[in-house]
Amino acid sequence: MSVWALLVAAGTGERLGEERPKAFVRLGELPLLAEPLRRLEDSGWIDAIVIAVPAGWEEPTILLAEELSATKVVAAVTGGATRAESVRTALAEVPEDVVVALVHDAARPLLTEDLIERVLAPLSDGWDGVVPGLPLTDTVKRVRDGAIVETVDRTGLYAVQTPQAFLAPVLRRAYAGDLAGATDCAALVEAAGGRVTVVEGEPRLLKVTTTADLELVASWL
Ligand code: C5P
Repeated sequence: MSVWALLVAAGTGERLGEERPKAFVRLGELPLLAEPLRRLEDSGWIDAIVIAVPAGWEEPTILLAEELSATKVVAAVTGGATRAESVRTALAEVPEDVVVALVHDAARPLLTEDLIERVLAPLSDGWDGVVPGLPLTDTVKRVRDGAIVETVDRTGLYAVQTPQAFLAPVLRRAYAGDLAGATDCAALVEAAGGRVTVVEGEPRLLKVTTTADLELVASWL
């Protein structure tokens, strides 16, 4: 079974308040992108890696891959205006005969080999897609114009992370249609009628959005 990883890193990361795109903000000595890239490179499950980066960052990305001896990297492509468009561009690099595509946000640096294994396993049991998720433990409210209009029943609600694994042909079909409003890959696969399951996620796989998140991830490293 061949597994290709799509590492999406083309976001601007405006909330970090830095000059450079989020994936290229420093985490220790190296850009943030280096951490998930190294982990995918070292994974025994991953055969090849495609990275989507902002326009102008393709060459620095290839140089970074060389610096890390990340020989599984086959391409650094120019991402799109939205996450979904970046995934579509990276997916175009995946050969037709590849069985599984695993899509990961570069903004979640601390992915683990255990989690990669967990999201791949259910694909052998007939699922089209698998996402890691954590059950919501906080009380959830819907707020409109500052006023709470509803307390949402949190039974069965999950906060969903990446890496998300899919049978590659299913993902390709899902990305052939309208991408509007999709905040993750699973949403498009679900909308196309695919069966997607949830496995246990990891609290440390938080998505770096603010400087405080970056400091937290650095302290965990
Ligand atoms: O913006 P957000 O934090 O939700 O982005 C999640 C992931 O998608 C990040 O790793 C980011 O780099 C990526 N992304 C992308 N192309 C975009 C927007 C986000 O590859 N246009």
